Amino acid sequence: MAKRQTTILDDLAIRTSLKQAWEDSQPDIIGGHEEGGFILSDEIGNLSVFRWPKGVQNSIVLPSHPDCKFDERDIVATFHTHPNTGSDFLQEPSETDKRAVRDDPDLKDEFYAGEFVISQEKIYLISPNGQVSEVGYTWEILGK
Ligand SMILES: [Zn+2]
Repeated sequence: MAKRQTTILDDLAIRTSLKQAWEDSQPDIIGGHEEGGFILSDEIGNLSVFRWPKGVQNSIVLPSHPDCKFDERDIVATFHTHPNTGSDFLQEPSETDKRAVRDDPDLKDEFYAGEFVISQEKIYLISPNGQVSEVGYTWEILGK
């Protein structure tokens, strides 16, 4: 799985899409909003991002994704941003974040690496079992 996660973030188009999502979430001390999406793989392994639509009051709406698939492609990872950079805000994945991944029966296929959480300083990965690890520094992975 560690290998898969590296492969996903090695993909320049994916890094560009994640960086765009980070910028779209308007990171700041106040006023940011979460953005997120699916990272999808087609049958020959080409990766792409589908951004989740925003619901009311900035809540993210996850489109239905039975059997870890969306739009006939495999969901190899999911991601969302934590754009509030003030020290009062939790930068790492919250308990709710961990539960959402762990308790989602449709995010359990062997090719699913987990959910990346992008904060100002670091990118974290919530594994399908709800465990959190640090992937690395955001600026190193996404660029400045
Ligand atoms: Zn979160």
